Amino acid sequence: MTDTPASSRPETVVLHAGWRADPTTGSVAVPIHQTTSFQFQDTGHAARLFALQEMGFIYTRIMNPTQDVLEKRVAALEGGVAALALGSGQAATAFSVLNLTEPGDNIVSSTDLYGGTWNLFANTLKGLGVEVRFVDPADPEAFARATDSRTRAYYAETLPNPKLEVFPIAEVAAIGRRLGVPLIMDNTAAPVLCRPIEHGAAVVMHSLTKWIGGHGTSIGGIVVDGGNFDWEKHAERFPTLNKPDPSYHGAVWTQAVKPLGPIAYIIRMRTCLMRDLGAPLAPMNCFLALQGLETLPLRMERHCANALKVAAWLARHPAVGKVIHPSLMTGEAKRRADAYLKGGYGSLIGFELKEGGAEAGRRFIEALKMFYHVANIGDARSLAIHPATTTHSQLDEQEQLATGVTPGYVRLSIGIEHVDDIIADLDQALAAATGTRVAKAAE
Ligand code: PLP
Repeated sequence: MTDTPASSRPETVVLHAGWRADPTTGSVAVPIHQTTSFQFQDTGHAARLFALQEMGFIYTRIMNPTQDVLEKRVAALEGGVAALALGSGQAATAFSVLNLTEPGDNIVSSTDLYGGTWNLFANTLKGLGVEVRFVDPADPEAFARATDSRTRAYYAETLPNPKLEVFPIAEVAAIGRRLGVPLIMDNTAAPVLCRPIEHGAAVVMHSLTKWIGGHGTSIGGIVVDGGNFDWEKHAERFPTLNKPDPSYHGAVWTQAVKPLGPIAYIIRMRTCLMRDLGAPLAPMNCFLALQGLETLPLRMERHCANALKVAAWLARHPAVGKVIHPSLMTGEAKRRADAYLKGGYGSLIGFELKEGGAEAGRRFIEALKMFYHVANIGDARSLAIHPATTTHSQLDEQEQLATGVTPGYVRLSIGIEHVDDIIADLDQALAAATGTRVAKAAE
């Protein structure tokens, strides 16, 4: 048996999609192809590869066999048709937008964003002539109102922190389909739990650095093409895919790759943006992301189960004022969480200390013994940070409040340790910060 088993179940896909065994050595683990370049069979072969008449490996900046397996697996996990791995989540976000935009164009983005994405959108893209119009995701119609003939995409995160209010994916995707605008979803915080393409998103990106890599070893990103958006139907809106490309002998991407499937978006990103801007994911890091991917569904189960118990425990703690976790939400926010997250509410939790503001938050972080104090999320280990004095310290207090960060707000990324140990560490740190101690039991 040499074929990859055909299954769309995440637990199977992450172990089997895109790879069975090495045809020459029989290696079951995906080899790390630590090479810059690939020997051509002859000059005709080389010419056919460069002319895209035949797919194959040329140079590791453009593609590499280890990277290829990672791309196929994440594409299968997300229900897309193809993917491109990149050197970071930031590069993935930047490429996902730059692939559709030219100076004078705009995109409409949710305000609930990772800070790095906010900076890229508000400053760097602006400097490149691409305007980002920020709208409140509580009102999906705001996306329609901000759209004009130069709008090239909508952008949002499935489960954005610190608010942790799930984005109305189907609602905004439907608006986009009506107006001819694709929805790009950052699904970093909800892999396995949510498949945005099933809800109408056209493109999904991940920071591989977080839950997919899962072990805090490597920075990486990936963009998945849903293959479900009709770029030709809206040809005027998408000149980068529908007009002759002077950098590739006048190729029109929607036409040039038709025989290979609905992959114009991702092929153009690889052949033009990756070629020109060069942000590849190193083969070793592709391998490490693949290692993380293999156990991702299993880890997500534990991440979510632990977070659910921790959120409930924090909500009962007398020194804790407010706990932010989708499981504790009500109304529309809870409806969206239940509609879009399957198998758990994610492993990010925010909470506020009732008294003591930023100083109590600082004391709490200082007192943690098992939690790591780092600017990261999605590690197998439990992590904590006090945003007001770190990630959001460049914002003034009003700006901090607008993004959902109060002075006493603490962000936790719950790991896969035994939940009693997680709660015991939180308990002793809360006691040190506030003088209030409760039982360590999870139930
Ligand atoms: N998207 C989200 C939701 C993130 O949290 C991050 C990083 O924290 C990124 C994108 C950027 O990813 P990277 O750090 O891999 O560049």
